[in-house]
Amino acid sequence: MRKTTRLFITVLALIACIPTCRAQSNYPPQSLLDRITAQGIRAHMEFLADDLLEGRGTGTRGYMLAANYVRAQFEQMGLEPAGEAGTYFQKVHVRQLTPVPERDSLVIKRDNREEKLVFEKDYLMEGDPAHQDVSVEASMVFVGYGVTAPEAHYDDYAGVDAKGKIVVLLSNGPASFPSSDRAYYSDEVNKLRNAAAHGAVGAIGIWAGEATKNTPWEQIIHFFRQPIMRWIDQTGTPNDYVPEIRAGAFMNQKSAEVLFKGSAHTLDEALASLQAGKPLSFPLAGSVSMHEAARFTELESPNIAGVLRGSDPRLKDEYVVFSAHVDHVGIGEPMKGDTIYNGAVDNASGTAALLEIARAFAASNERPKRSLLFLAVTGEEAGLLGSDYYAQHPTVPVAQIVANINMDGISLFYDFKDIVALGADHSSLNREVQDVAQHMGLESSPDPMPEENFFIRSDQYSFIKQGVPALSISEGFKTVDPALDGRKISITWETTIYHTPQDDMNQPLNFIAARKCTQVILAVGYEVANAPGQPAWNPGDMFGQRFAHH
Ligand SMILES: [Zn+2]
Repeated sequence: MRKTTRLFITVLALIACIPTCRAQSNYPPQSLLDRITAQGIRAHMEFLADDLLEGRGTGTRGYMLAANYVRAQFEQMGLEPAGEAGTYFQKVHVRQLTPVPERDSLVIKRDNREEKLVFEKDYLMEGDPAHQDVSVEASMVFVGYGVTAPEAHYDDYAGVDAKGKIVVLLSNGPASFPSSDRAYYSDEVNKLRNAAAHGAVGAIGIWAGEATKNTPWEQIIHFFRQPIMRWIDQTGTPNDYVPEIRAGAFMNQKSAEVLFKGSAHTLDEALASLQAGKPLSFPLAGSVSMHEAARFTELESPNIAGVLRGSDPRLKDEYVVFSAHVDHVGIGEPMKGDTIYNGAVDNASGTAALLEIARAFAASNERPKRSLLFLAVTGEEAGLLGSDYYAQHPTVPVAQIVANINMDGISLFYDFKDIVALGADHSSLNREVQDVAQHMGLESSPDPMPEENFFIRSDQYSFIKQGVPALSISEGFKTVDPALDGRKISITWETTIYHTPQDDMNQPLNFIAARKCTQVILAVGYEVANAPGQPAWNPGDMFGQRFAHH
C-alpha cells in the first residue's frame, strides 16, 4: 500500500516537473528535516556558550572542553574518526603574537623633521609572525587599494614605482568589482603578496571609506587586542607569511592624513577619486620608519573531524564537508562588566547546527550517496587558521572533497523569508540552493552587504582557496513579521553585540529561525551529496580559474 502510494506520488511529481524542472530534485524527505530540533540547537549552544568554557579561545582550556564535547557527540553518533591516527582530532600548532606597544614605533620623516605617531590612537601593529623584532625605513608611495586585477583591467600600481618602498593603501577593494571579486582582492594577504611582487618592503593600511561606517576605529582597536595567531607548519613557517614585507602597520583615516602632507593629493582627494571609480596612485613626500615587536607563545589546538560514510559504492569516496568554527575570542577586556566573550551566535550556533545536522543524518536511514565529513575547526577568529590548516593538510584527499558548506552564525534574530547563500553565484551549487529555497518557500537573495566581505571572512574561504566550491548560508533581511526590520536588526547586532561579551545566551534568540536555517543547510548538503555529478565552478569564474585543480 505504502509503496504504491509512494510510486504514484513520484510519478505525479515527475509529470508535474517535466515542463519546469531541468533535473529531478533530490530534496530530502521531510522525516530527515524533522529531525532538526530547536531545543537540540539551543542545548548545544547553552553548553558551548556557558561561562565555564571561558569564550573558547584558541589554545585555551575552554576551547579544549568544547572540542571534547564535539568529539564525544561525534563518537556517540557513530561517526568514523576522521582526524589523525584514528582519532577525531587533528592537531594544529598555533603561534600567538602579543604586540609590545612600548617597543613599537612609527615615525614619519620629512623636511628634516620627525613626527612620532601614537600606538592605538594613530596606528596598530600585529607583529611579524616569524621574528619578534622587525624594522624597515623607506620612502612611501600611495597605491590606492593596492589591487592588480588583470582580468578587470584594473591596476593600482600602474604608473608608480613601489620598488624598495613602503606602500600606503586603503582597506577594501574597488566598488566596481562584483562582490566576491572585491572580497578576494580586499584580502590583506593578497594585497601584501601583490605589494611584494611590485618590490615593496613595507606596508601601511588605512581604515577608510564605507567600511568604517559599520566598524569604527574604536572597534578595530578592540579587535587588535584580541589574540593574534598563525598556524606553523612542520618547517616552522607561519601561514600566509610574506617575508618581503619586512614590517607593516594599520592606521585610521584621520591620523593617516599626515602621510599625505606635501604630496600631490590629500587623502580625501585620493579617497574621492577611488570611490568615483578612478584609481589614483602617487608617491608621498618624505619617508617612514617602522619598528614592530611581539612576544611569541606556542600553542596547540585541534580541529575535530568525523565521517558519515555514503551509501553509494563508488561515490562514498567523495566528501561533502559541513564545517563550523568552535573557537571564539576567549576572555578579554571588560565590557558592561563582563569579560567572557561567550560567542553564542559566533559560533556556538554554527557548531550546534553542525552537530544537529550530523545527528539527523546519523540517526536516519537516509544515507546520502556521497560521504559527509563533519569538520569543527579551531582558530577561525584568529584568521581562519583551523580550516586553512585542514584544507592544506586534509585527512581525506582534497581532490575527493567536492563541496564545503560552512556555518558561521546561523539565523537567530528573526524568522526570515529569504536566504543568502554566499558563494552560490560562483558554482553549480546554486542549483541546489535554488531547489531547496523553492521547496521551502523561501526567496534566495544576493549578498546584501558586499562591502563587509563576508564571503572571505569565514572558513568556506579556506576550501575555496584549495579549489573546492563552497557555500555559506544564512538568512536574508526579509522578515516573516513585517513589523521587524531585518537589515536594521542585523546591522545593530553587528555594531553593538558582535565580538563583545554580550554575544551570550541572555540576548533574545529565535530558535524557530535557527531550526529553519539549519534545515536549509542540511537540505542543500543532502542534495549535493546525492547529485549525479560533482559540483563545478561556473565557466570562467574567477575563483575557479584561480584555485581549481586542473
Ligand atoms: Zn567571529
